[in-house]
Amino acid sequence: MKSKGQLHLVPINCEVLEGWQTFPTFEKEQCWRCGSDTNKEIIQVTHGVSEPYYYCRSCLAVGSANTCQKYIWQPPLQRKGTDVNLLEWEGCLTPEQSVISNHLKEAVEKGCERYFIWAVTGAGKTEILYETIAFFLQNGGQVAFISPRRAACIDVSKRLKKVFSRTQQVTLHQTSEAVYKDEQLVIATAPQMWRFYCAFDLIIIDEVDAFPYVSSLQLQYGTKRALKKTGSSVLLSATPTKT
Ligand SMILES: [Zn+2]
Repeated sequence: MKSKGQLHLVPINCEVLEGWQTFPTFEKEQCWRCGSDTNKEIIQVTHGVSEPYYYCRSCLAVGSANTCQKYIWQPPLQRKGTDVNLLEWEGCLTPEQSVISNHLKEAVEKGCERYFIWAVTGAGKTEILYETIAFFLQNGGQVAFISPRRAACIDVSKRLKKVFSRTQQVTLHQTSEAVYKDEQLVIATAPQMWRFYCAFDLIIIDEVDAFPYVSSLQLQYGTKRALKKTGSSVLLSATPTKT
């Protein structure tokens, strides 16, 4: 059974079962999942093949996508909400942290598309997010937490496992062997977002100013595509760029 909300690559002439939608890997020589469109990134293969084809070098990290393939996709799982408080955290926020936590939650409840939190390292940015994450999870939403580095990803994953122990979670990065199986909470490095399409109600992007995310249009493109059209993103930074 293939997971939902995720893009699965299949040969272009593969028959598609009912309920699945298909998308091209390339549109007008632009990679559909990462947006690359230059000669440097889109490579044409002509040698040793009966039909020339293109592949994208930019998003190779999640598997080669070429013009002999297409994506198949199903909308993400529709989950029922729950009245159970899924947040099991015994700590408490300072009055200042509470102000931001409440403001963020109110903003996303009203459908805020992008929310930016600028605070120094150690200010408790992750804890400030707990109530908002809980709000989405309790309403049946899909949540992704993106960290720029694998180590940061693993660290966040441990913390979220503790405080949301009743929620199914998966941690995805280049060397993890985990496979996404419709878990409600995904902790991942940014390239992993290329695997998804209109999948998340909330995407949190930690250290939004960090390399490679800050300078990669492809990673930013992929993250935007992984978010549902009605979704919210929360950006975190201690040292934001002007942009
Ligand atoms: Zn690509």
